[in-house]
Amino acid sequence: MPADPNRVIANLKELAAITGDANGAQRIAFTPTWQHARIWFAGKLTELPATYNITRHVDAAGNCWVTLPGASPRSLVLGSHLDSVPNGGWLDGALGVVTALEVLCGIARDYDGRPPFTIRVVDWADEEGARFGRSLFGSSAFAGTHSIAADRVRTDRDGITLEAALAACNIEIDRIGDAARERENIAAYLELHIEQGPVLERLGLPLGAVRGTKGVERHAITFHGQEAHSGSTPMADRRDALAAAARLALEIRTIATRHPDAVCTMGSVKTFPGIVTAVVGRCECTLDQRDLDPVILATMYREAQEASRRFADQERCTVEWSRIWSIEPIPFHPALIDLCREAIQETLGTPAHSLPSGPLHDAAEVARLGITTTMMFVQSLGGISHNKIEDTRLDHLRLAVTAFDRLAAKTLGWMESSTAS
Ligand SMILES: [Zn+2]
Repeated sequence: MPADPNRVIANLKELAAITGDANGAQRIAFTPTWQHARIWFAGKLTELPATYNITRHVDAAGNCWVTLPGASPRSLVLGSHLDSVPNGGWLDGALGVVTALEVLCGIARDYDGRPPFTIRVVDWADEEGARFGRSLFGSSAFAGTHSIAADRVRTDRDGITLEAALAACNIEIDRIGDAARERENIAAYLELHIEQGPVLERLGLPLGAVRGTKGVERHAITFHGQEAHSGSTPMADRRDALAAAARLALEIRTIATRHPDAVCTMGSVKTFPGIVTAVVGRCECTLDQRDLDPVILATMYREAQEASRRFADQERCTVEWSRIWSIEPIPFHPALIDLCREAIQETLGTPAHSLPSGPLHDAAEVARLGITTTMMFVQSLGGISHNKIEDTRLDHLRLAVTAFDRLAAKTLGWMESSTAS
């Protein structure tokens, strides 16, 4: 039975009403409102026939799993996250989880409760990292890319430790790695998400197949010049650290525009002494570069370093770099990307567009393990997310549910044929 898009929309509105306020969604992970969202979600399962043997459990890292056992333990997992940022939107994460459950229910009905493969829905814990600054908490515990030592020292704005917040939700920080047990028998993972950017809207397209998540190079760059009196220092005698940084801020735009999907951002600039009467002696800035192609990412990083040295020289300054964080590009599986394109094409009746994701998603942690993975994006109005005005046209949401349902069916067929071969 095909998934019912209107039921998905009604459920999302219901969830928004009970876990949001005038400022938007308030489902911050490990808070009572987030737990309330999960209890609401569990309640949806009780509406299904008991004969389906659907079970629900929370793993060692707080990820919530719903399982419809099939003839084979090999499983298709559909998921996303119910947590939100403070004052967030109604669709970010929730769309994927609520749609996943609708698709699972349709498969249960189609196969009278016993599909050929096991179907699971996962609601990842703390995808947003809004409270403790660590995104993809639950999915990275699942993937084994977390660090308990780093997690142990995290605190929120009120000084509450992550460890205490987890304990309040019956999660032991020392055991979160046990979430890796959930990997067993997973054959494929699919995630539907809003795009959170303007690309699909600009192309006039409701849906897109996601090719992977972009790699990130994130660095702190410090230019050192000479503090000097702004009145007495002739222009030719200055060693202005801000001038060098400013030239780099413009140059990274040129570097990025050589590649169609690349982005480069200087998001923070601090000047010292930072007073109106002094030439800037030291300028600390940050650089964030992203692309899906590792060669392009490495090239942009090298070009930015070379440019920074050139501008430092020209301004008679010096420059030093230190890496803040980086992650390699994570491409999704070609076979599933193709199925996603097919599902979109059949739903829209027009050729499907594919695009990389700039933001990281739980799907990236799953794909890093080598699990066959892809995502589908639905257009975001104005490209806005992490904001109460985040929205998507209802007709686009309906198309997304239908296309994602098709993708799940196609993936089951692919699992069948890959088992047979
Ligand atoms: Zn999200």
